[in-house]
Amino acid sequence: MTLGEIMNIGVIGLGFVGLSISSVLASKNYNVVGIDIDKQKCSDIRNGVLPLFEPDLENTLRIGLKKKLTISNNFSLIKNCDIIFVTVGTPQKSNGAIELSMIKKATTTIGQIIRKSKKNSIIFIKSTVVPGTTQNVILPILEKESGKKVNRDFGVISNPEFLQESNAIRDTKYPHAIVLGGKQSKYMKKAKMFFSKMHPNVPIVITNFQTAEMIKYANNSFLATKISFINQLSNICQNIPGTNIDDIAKIIGLDPRIGKLFLNAGPGYGGSCLPKDINALINFANKIGVNPILLNAVKNTNREQVSNIVSLMKKILGDITSKRITILGTAFKPNTDDIRDSKSIELIKKLLKNKAKIIIHDPKAIENTKKIFGEKILYTKSIADALNKSQCVIIMTHWKQYDTLNNNSIKHMNKKNIIDCRRVLVKKELDAKYYAIGIGKN
Ligand code: NAD
Repeated sequence: MTLGEIMNIGVIGLGFVGLSISSVLASKNYNVVGIDIDKQKCSDIRNGVLPLFEPDLENTLRIGLKKKLTISNNFSLIKNCDIIFVTVGTPQKSNGAIELSMIKKATTTIGQIIRKSKKNSIIFIKSTVVPGTTQNVILPILEKESGKKVNRDFGVISNPEFLQESNAIRDTKYPHAIVLGGKQSKYMKKAKMFFSKMHPNVPIVITNFQTAEMIKYANNSFLATKISFINQLSNICQNIPGTNIDDIAKIIGLDPRIGKLFLNAGPGYGGSCLPKDINALINFANKIGVNPILLNAVKNTNREQVSNIVSLMKKILGDITSKRITILGTAFKPNTDDIRDSKSIELIKKLLKNKAKIIIHDPKAIENTKKIFGEKILYTKSIADALNKSQCVIIMTHWKQYDTLNNNSIKHMNKKNIIDCRRVLVKKELDAKYYAIGIGKN
């Protein structure tokens, strides 16, 4: 087996992760087959229409499609693949555990296809799964369905993904580390060679399945911990007149033992990964008899953030029934249209329960937000329309468009109340009642 043999690559599941990987690999001249069960999605992608908004993805996909990227719902196309990335979703069940049905289905089909293949393929599990899943769930499916033996006839490697939405292409091209979990074998050697060629100078860590799986959870739960930590401090600061959470975050972030990233106080962490991964790790720890006290505190701190915003609003407006409230930003962070587990969605649900009238603005996420709220709320593409006659505006997502808000932008508000969860306007002299999360009012 030589490195030169890896030219044909399969990617199963074309969401944020799979589509980013397929596009980047195809743009680097690999023959890539991207497979998804969603026919419509495949057809849209083939025509260059993205199912999601992600900076640079459209361009990278276009380059990939001009080269050797095939998009299909026909799994048999992976028969000739040297390596196959599994990137299907592992969403959260109501008890916090991860839903494995998609990965079971995908690996069942992969097994049936490699049964007929002459290739000694390597299957990389990129989907996030709790420790033990590859060994105890995925491997037995692959061996049973293929009738072949792992490490002899094919390889299986846990290869957790660390990309961040809104930076997916950059992170796919320039990852900070590569984790390869599995047995030492010719397949592991081949995988290491493939990744060192793809990403020279990036550390490659080789470990066993369960450690690789745990690394992903360790990573995300640490990031969530940083966010909950700064949010907890921010709540304290808000009650100390004159205190500024950003100055505190900036200075502690200069300490190399702490680091400056993920110390932005706000309405709490959201998105498709951090909440789900924390819940899965808590569920997993409980199952194996460990009480995850810190993780529970991280989760509870995060849950309180939106309730704190609602309490602040009630303090400002009194009864919020029928009050017109503007939400700026529903995406869980800027530069994405992803609203999965977005704190804005949670806030809107709470405000609707209180019978407030909601009008929202988001540069990219309106269509996704409509899928949740339909006609229960109002949507606008213009910030001015969103603010017109409003009694309170809440800045939830730091889209750069909101930096330019000024006295002129708020002049048609019915009552000039601003709750700024991202401290976007903190340095402006505004003719308004201005409340910033993490800034103690004098
Ligand atoms: P996603 O929900 O955006 O996309 C998953 C895709 O898989 C969908 O297009 C779906 O149609 C497809 N799919 C489902 N079952 C399939 C099957 N049997 N065969 C083929 N396709 C199938 O998910 P995502 O956000 O790309 O995440 C994928 C995995 O990577 C998850 O485990 C997630 O936790 C992990 N992850 C996500 C991110 C992120 O930022 N989104 C980052 C790191 C890791």
